[in-house]
Amino acid sequence: MRAEQPEIATVAVLGAGTMGHGIAEVTAIAGYDVVLRDIEADIVEDGYDEIEWSLEKLAEKGRLDEDPDDVAARVATTTDLEAAVSDADLVIEAGPEQLSVKQDIFESVDAAAPEDALLATNSSSLSITEIAAATERPDSVLGLHFFNPPVKMDLVEVIYGKATTDETAQRGYEFVESLGKTPIYVRKDVRGFVVNSVLGPFMSEPAWMVSADEATIRQADAAMVHERGYPMGPFELGDLTGIDIGYHVRTEAGRPVPPIMAEKVENENLGRKTGKGYYDYDDGGGPEYVPEDAKGFDHLRVEAVMANEAAKLVGDDVATAEAIDTGMRLGAGFPEGTCRRADDIGLDNILEKLRKLRDEHGDDRYEPAEYLVDLVAAGHTGTEAGQGFHEYDNGDGPGDYHTINWELDDDGLLEVELDRPSRMNAISETLADEVVDLLSSVDENDVRAVVFEGAGERAFSAGADISGFADRDPAQTSEPTKVFTTVAEYPRPTLARIDGYCLGAGLELALACDLRLATTDSEFGFPEITLGLLPGGGGTQRAIRMLTDARAKELVFRGEHISAERAADWGLINRAVDADEFDDVVEEFVSDLVSGPPIALRKAKRVMNEGADESLDAGLEMESQAFALLLTTDDVAEGTAAFAADREPEFEGK
Ligand code: NAD
Repeated sequence: MRAEQPEIATVAVLGAGTMGHGIAEVTAIAGYDVVLRDIEADIVEDGYDEIEWSLEKLAEKGRLDEDPDDVAARVATTTDLEAAVSDADLVIEAGPEQLSVKQDIFESVDAAAPEDALLATNSSSLSITEIAAATERPDSVLGLHFFNPPVKMDLVEVIYGKATTDETAQRGYEFVESLGKTPIYVRKDVRGFVVNSVLGPFMSEPAWMVSADEATIRQADAAMVHERGYPMGPFELGDLTGIDIGYHVRTEAGRPVPPIMAEKVENENLGRKTGKGYYDYDDGGGPEYVPEDAKGFDHLRVEAVMANEAAKLVGDDVATAEAIDTGMRLGAGFPEGTCRRADDIGLDNILEKLRKLRDEHGDDRYEPAEYLVDLVAAGHTGTEAGQGFHEYDNGDGPGDYHTINWELDDDGLLEVELDRPSRMNAISETLADEVVDLLSSVDENDVRAVVFEGAGERAFSAGADISGFADRDPAQTSEPTKVFTTVAEYPRPTLARIDGYCLGAGLELALACDLRLATTDSEFGFPEITLGLLPGGGGTQRAIRMLTDARAKELVFRGEHISAERAADWGLINRAVDADEFDDVVEEFVSDLVSGPPIALRKAKRVMNEGADESLDAGLEMESQAFALLLTTDDVAEGTAAFAADREPEFEGK
């Protein structure tokens, strides 16, 4: 064990290409001094220019806390490798993806970098162990696999080579956290690490199916996008990344290549970059599948093989199910993690599917992972069983949620954070269910007010995850509205804290709250009409009751965004506040709500909500009944006594 390791202050990034300049940029934004090195002066200067350009863009969008020039000033450039690494606490290599080139670089780095420096490679597919072998200190070498583009992508895989120590990996992990990014451990140096290993079958299984005339390209893409919620179809994704890339990964791993993939590579139809791939991109063409194309596609086959890959990784101690799910959501933009989805499908169903495929096709890629077999044998078949890849709390109390975070403090403030920042907190079926479950299982007597907010910096919630709703059983179509009704009828005051996009179902959730506060940068709208839909979570009805007829219809009919200022002007929200005053204003509102008289607030909410749908007489009757009841409460006695004594009342809800 070495002595205490130094804090990381200076980072050398080797290679100023696509990834190198992006990694240098995010590192400088986090406050580190960076030395960016490439082999020629003009290449490294181009990389620096890209950083400056990108920093300007971030500043324009208000996503930088500092002057972009101050951030750029922390990046030095050089072509001298020794100068670049001699003071570095961490070296991140982002040179060409060739083992011999990387080994040469690591050999030179080993000779010039301080003894206690951490040495990382950004390689996507090479062996960390083989790269580390070029040094005398393989224990200090690790993979830090950023995703493209680093400024946007939140995930970094932290990969162990054979000799990497826990201490090295942990320092790498903490460094990634300090960048504000999400690290996941990949504890063994397996080909493709985590994300690309699970993404492999997403792309190859449909390719096998198409090669055997069991599906069409459009059918597969339409099904995976419109029915299963993936951000892109497997073939569309293949065209984007380059069909040759997947082809080479498979051939180098000694794995068979689906004939359709081989044929495309032989004919040099490699995807977007050559103008032709699975789709034709000439003359503005491209993927052109529609939801109806999806019919009859066996998506369980694809998801079963992906789940099997995930089970191999967990069973081999490469990654935890949690890490795999985080990786697939943040690294591949999946709507939910592969393990979580497998738990929802049922691991017994997945196992049965794999066995059937193996028997039908006689191919060992369907051989079920031992870990999967063991889970099923133990009765851990997924969400319904309460345990699968993950554990689920099916008891009465609040569960272990995946798409929301929540906290209930001693003052009775229940904070609910919509936590799908990579999907702009889009409201999926799971998220809606989790909000309902939380509100119905937290003891209402402990709650005095609820605040909803969105995770990340871009959105309160940018809409519904429509994909999840598309293949829904029509018999259940009333269900999506349950979350909005539950929030609207919650017996405590609710407030939406909006910073960023508040659109579609996100706006419906905000409208189901009693109060809405937003930063001036926020934007509001109901874009449903542009999809041929209408807001289906109570949006039309709440808008028409809240706004003038003309304004509500403008919002719904035109599908345009409106600014926070206009929203405040229209009465859609309570206030539009500058970002630097926002927390204070929210705090003032919240403090009034949590310290207010609980029974009176509950009654006021009820008579106002219900009375609004009644005649004036009926509403007045409801009000006077509530008023009479409140007169009998201890809170009224406390309120009047405090008023007389000129002190703050302490309401107890009695
Ligand atoms: P790139 O070709 O854009 O950049 C590589 C840079 O390395 C070039 O500027 C080249 O001049 C420079 N270079 C060559 N020899 C060098 C040396 N000896 N020392 C320093 N620099 C040298 O490639 P990229 O897309 O940025 O990929 C870099 C690494 O990141 C690769 O290992 C790749 O696998 C990995 N990666 C790429 C992506 C991606 O989507 N592009 C994503 C994740 C990881």
